[in-house]
Amino acid sequence: MPSSPPRAWAEIDLAALRHNLEVSRASTHCSVMAVVKAGAYGHGLEEITQALASNKVAFFGVANVGEARRIANAGVTTPIYLLGATWTEERAEIVDRDWTPCLSTLDEARHFSELALAAGKRLKVHISIDTGMGRGGFIPVGLPEILTQLEALPGIEVDGIGSHLPSADEDEAFTRSQFASFRETLDSLGGPSRFKWIHLSNSAGLLGYENDPCNLVRPGLMLYGISPIPGHQEKLRNVMTLKSRVTLLRTLPKGHGISYGRAFVTERETRVATVGIGYGDGYPRHLSGKGAEVIIRDQRFPILGRVTMDQIMIDVTDSDVTAGDEVELFGPRIRVDEVAKKADTIAWEILTGITPRVVRIHQ
Ligand SMILES: *Cc1c(COP(=O)(O)O)cnc(C)c1O
Repeated sequence: MPSSPPRAWAEIDLAALRHNLEVSRASTHCSVMAVVKAGAYGHGLEEITQALASNKVAFFGVANVGEARRIANAGVTTPIYLLGATWTEERAEIVDRDWTPCLSTLDEARHFSELALAAGKRLKVHISIDTGMGRGGFIPVGLPEILTQLEALPGIEVDGIGSHLPSADEDEAFTRSQFASFRETLDSLGGPSRFKWIHLSNSAGLLGYENDPCNLVRPGLMLYGISPIPGHQEKLRNVMTLKSRVTLLRTLPKGHGISYGRAFVTERETRVATVGIGYGDGYPRHLSGKGAEVIIRDQRFPILGRVTMDQIMIDVTDSDVTAGDEVELFGPRIRVDEVAKKADTIAWEILTGITPRVVRIHQ
């Protein structure tokens, strides 16, 4: 079979990724847990962890055991931290492979302890504290007694403590109060020196706040080149550029409907480029009719009508665009957060929503 270029592809700039890791390191005194859940935010789990593994990353943070397995099977030996709760059926493997879970309940702790004892080892665990996220963790009240019980369990070693920030990118007062309550909680447990790892911040917390008394941060989005808070974007470099090609060029008369629902009708004779990407690739259908643009030949052009599953239509009137031209959907010039805003969502969702049909090219 002759090989043909893909219809839609994502170019992943590994040098830019490493640059962004350096920015996160330079922005704080803390060590870095690189968050690589959801296939490294759609950038390719194996490739991204392999690219970062030798760059003094203290942990890779993943959502679940399936992701942890893929990293380990890719030959990456950096410690792996599980950001969310685990099923009981997953825990024997976690113990066996020395992945680090975060605990929210005494029941989980007892189960891990039993499994570790049966395996003849002591598993390092972190305790998660709910300082306002409401998704997991122990409530701070009564924690000293709970820590005493945890430390009495012979199969586990409490090696770290963490919490999570729900609104570090939009509510400074609340976030400051969270840092304060995390500090108070630590003091109630005997102070920071009692834990090897102390962590609270995602990208927004890392960039926008002093991270005292933490010694570990958990950036995700900023590694992929997007700052969740203003004032830091210039430091970061774009990592993923989503591209496709013009497959067809036609001139349509005035009054011609374009795409499903005929939500757009030409107001003049219009040169229309059809491009081989759509919501089946993760390019959001919610961009329909929102003034979204793409770049062809270094120029911005507007999308016409609705985004379809495999194709979009672009107004290229009065340009020299031709069939086969490369199209940039997002990247260094149209940042993914601009696309997200127009689609009424967030950059995280756009990046993790790019589907497997889009070929990832790591370079
Ligand atoms: C996803 C996640 C992060 C990373 O968040 P970003 O905003 O992408 O930096 C950090 N910590 C936890 C617990 C997470 O779930």
